[in-house]
Amino acid sequence: MALDDLYREVILDHYTRPRNKGTIDGADITVEGANPLCGDELSVYVKLTGGRISDVRFVGRGCSISQASASMMTDQIKGKTLHEARALVGQFKAMMHGEEVPEEELGDLMALQGVRKFPVRIKCATLAWVALDQGVEEFESARGKVEAKATSEVE
Ligand code: ZN
Repeated sequence: MALDDLYREVILDHYTRPRNKGTIDGADITVEGANPLCGDELSVYVKLTGGRISDVRFVGRGCSISQASASMMTDQIKGKTLHEARALVGQFKAMMHGEEVPEEELGDLMALQGVRKFPVRIKCATLAWVALDQGVEEFESARGKVEAKATSEVE
Protein backbone atom coordinates (compact mmCIF):
# COMPACT_ATOMS: atom_id res chain seq x y z
CA MET A 1 0.00 0.00 0.00
CA ALA A 2 1.36 3.41 -0.93
CA LEU A 3 2.03 5.76 1.95
CA ASP A 4 -0.51 8.27 0.65
CA ASP A 5 -3.23 5.60 0.69
CA LEU A 6 -2.29 4.57 4.19
CA TYR A 7 -2.46 8.18 5.34
CA ARG A 8 -5.82 8.63 3.63
CA GLU A 9 -7.13 5.58 5.46
CA VAL A 10 -5.98 6.87 8.85
CA ILE A 11 -7.75 10.19 8.22
CA LEU A 12 -10.92 8.51 6.98
CA ASP A 13 -10.93 6.18 9.97
CA HIS A 14 -10.79 9.09 12.43
CA TYR A 15 -13.41 11.00 10.44
CA THR A 16 -15.92 8.16 10.30
CA ARG A 17 -15.21 6.85 13.82
CA PRO A 18 -14.10 9.93 15.77
CA ARG A 19 -12.42 9.25 19.11
CA ASN A 20 -13.53 11.13 22.21
CA LYS A 21 -16.52 12.79 20.59
CA GLY A 22 -18.78 14.58 23.05
CA THR A 23 -18.78 17.19 25.77
CA ILE A 24 -17.52 17.14 29.38
CA ASP A 25 -19.64 18.51 32.21
CA GLY A 26 -17.51 20.68 34.46
CA ALA A 27 -14.57 20.81 32.05
CA ASP A 28 -11.61 22.85 33.26
CA ILE A 29 -11.01 24.18 29.77
CA THR A 30 -13.65 24.82 27.14
CA VAL A 31 -12.66 26.49 23.92
CA GLU A 32 -14.19 27.00 20.50
CA GLY A 33 -12.53 27.25 17.16
CA ALA A 34 -13.77 28.10 13.70
CA ASN A 35 -12.32 28.15 10.24
CA PRO A 36 -14.70 30.31 8.21
CA LEU A 37 -12.77 29.66 4.99
CA CYS A 38 -13.97 26.07 5.03
CA GLY A 39 -16.92 26.22 7.42
CA ASP A 40 -15.28 24.05 10.10
CA GLU A 41 -16.39 24.53 13.69
CA LEU A 42 -15.48 22.75 16.86
CA SER A 43 -15.45 22.94 20.64
CA VAL A 44 -12.79 21.25 22.75
CA TYR A 45 -13.29 20.24 26.39
CA VAL A 46 -10.44 19.35 28.76
CA LYS A 47 -10.67 17.87 32.24
CA LEU A 48 -7.59 18.04 34.44
CA THR A 49 -6.75 15.70 37.28
CA GLY A 50 -3.51 16.10 39.23
CA GLY A 51 -2.05 18.38 36.58
CA ARG A 52 -2.69 15.97 33.72
CA ILE A 53 -5.33 15.82 31.02
CA SER A 54 -7.53 13.05 32.37
CA ASP A 55 -10.22 13.52 29.74
CA VAL A 56 -10.54 15.47 26.52
CA ARG A 57 -13.45 15.55 24.10
CA PHE A 58 -14.64 17.54 21.16
CA VAL A 59 -17.78 18.22 19.20
CA GLY A 60 -17.83 19.85 15.83
CA ARG A 61 -18.68 19.74 12.20
CA GLY A 62 -16.81 20.43 9.05
CA CYS A 63 -14.54 18.76 6.56
CA SER A 64 -12.91 15.39 7.10
CA ILE A 65 -9.48 16.95 7.70
CA SER A 66 -10.66 19.24 10.51
CA GLN A 67 -12.67 16.54 12.29
CA ALA A 68 -10.08 13.78 11.84
CA SER A 69 -7.35 16.06 13.13
CA ALA A 70 -9.41 16.90 16.25
CA SER A 71 -10.02 13.20 16.85
CA MET A 72 -6.30 12.42 16.54
CA MET A 73 -5.44 15.29 18.85
CA THR A 74 -7.71 14.03 21.64
CA ASP A 75 -6.12 10.59 21.28
CA GLN A 76 -2.62 11.99 21.55
CA ILE A 77 -2.93 14.48 24.40
CA LYS A 78 -4.86 12.38 26.90
CA GLY A 79 -2.62 11.72 29.91
CA LYS A 80 -0.25 14.58 29.10
CA THR A 81 0.41 17.64 31.22
CA LEU A 82 -0.66 20.98 29.75
CA HIS A 83 2.99 21.75 29.13
CA GLU A 84 3.49 18.50 27.19
CA ALA A 85 0.27 19.08 25.27
CA ARG A 86 1.43 22.53 24.21
CA ALA A 87 4.79 21.13 23.15
CA LEU A 88 2.95 18.67 20.90
CA VAL A 89 0.83 21.49 19.49
CA GLY A 90 4.08 23.26 18.60
CA GLN A 91 5.50 20.19 16.89
CA PHE A 92 2.32 19.50 14.99
CA LYS A 93 2.09 23.08 13.74
CA ALA A 94 5.78 22.97 12.79
CA MET A 95 5.19 19.80 10.76
CA MET A 96 2.19 21.35 9.03
CA HIS A 97 4.33 24.31 8.07
CA GLY A 98 6.94 22.10 6.50
CA GLU A 99 9.53 21.76 9.26
CA GLU A 100 11.29 18.49 10.01
CA VAL A 101 10.00 16.91 13.20
CA PRO A 102 10.77 13.50 14.73
CA GLU A 103 8.24 11.05 13.35
CA GLU A 104 8.06 8.97 16.54
CA GLU A 105 6.74 11.99 18.47
CA LEU A 106 3.80 12.46 16.14
CA GLY A 107 2.68 8.92 15.34
CA ASP A 108 -0.63 8.87 13.46
CA LEU A 109 -0.47 12.63 13.11
CA MET A 110 2.05 12.12 10.32
CA ALA A 111 -0.97 11.12 8.23
CA LEU A 112 -1.90 14.79 8.06
CA GLN A 113 1.33 15.89 6.46
CA GLY A 114 -0.17 15.18 3.02
CA VAL A 115 -2.43 18.18 3.66
CA ARG A 116 0.62 20.44 3.30
CA LYS A 117 0.27 20.08 -0.45
CA PHE A 118 -3.00 22.01 -0.16
CA PRO A 119 -2.14 25.24 1.69
CA VAL A 120 -5.79 26.27 1.96
CA ARG A 121 -6.49 23.11 3.98
CA ILE A 122 -3.69 23.60 6.52
CA LYS A 123 -6.04 25.71 8.64
CA CYS A 124 -8.48 22.76 8.66
CA ALA A 125 -5.77 20.49 10.05
CA THR A 126 -4.55 22.92 12.68
CA LEU A 127 -7.98 24.19 13.82
CA ALA A 128 -8.35 21.94 16.87
CA TRP A 129 -4.72 22.49 17.83
CA VAL A 130 -4.85 26.26 17.65
CA ALA A 131 -8.06 26.16 19.72
CA LEU A 132 -6.48 23.91 22.34
CA ASP A 133 -3.41 26.13 22.56
CA GLN A 134 -5.60 29.18 23.08
CA GLY A 135 -7.71 27.38 25.68
CA VAL A 136 -4.64 26.34 27.66
CA GLU A 137 -3.20 29.83 27.47
CA GLU A 138 -6.44 31.40 28.78
CA PHE A 139 -6.67 28.78 31.52
CA GLU A 140 -3.09 29.38 32.64
CA SER A 141 -3.35 33.15 32.57
CA ALA A 142 -6.60 33.00 34.60
CA ARG A 143 -4.93 30.66 37.08
CA GLY A 144 -1.90 32.95 37.23
CA LYS A 145 -4.16 35.86 38.18
CA VAL A 146 -5.89 33.82 40.89
CA GLU A 147 -2.50 32.81 42.31
CA ALA A 148 -1.21 36.37 42.18
CA LYS A 149 -4.34 37.56 43.97
CA ALA A 150 -4.03 34.84 46.60
CA THR A 151 -0.39 35.81 47.18
CA SER A 152 -1.19 39.51 47.50
CA GLU A 153 -3.99 38.77 49.96
CA VAL A 154 -1.57 36.85 52.15
CA GLU A 155 0.88 39.75 52.22
ZN1 ZN B 1 -11.94 22.23 6.51
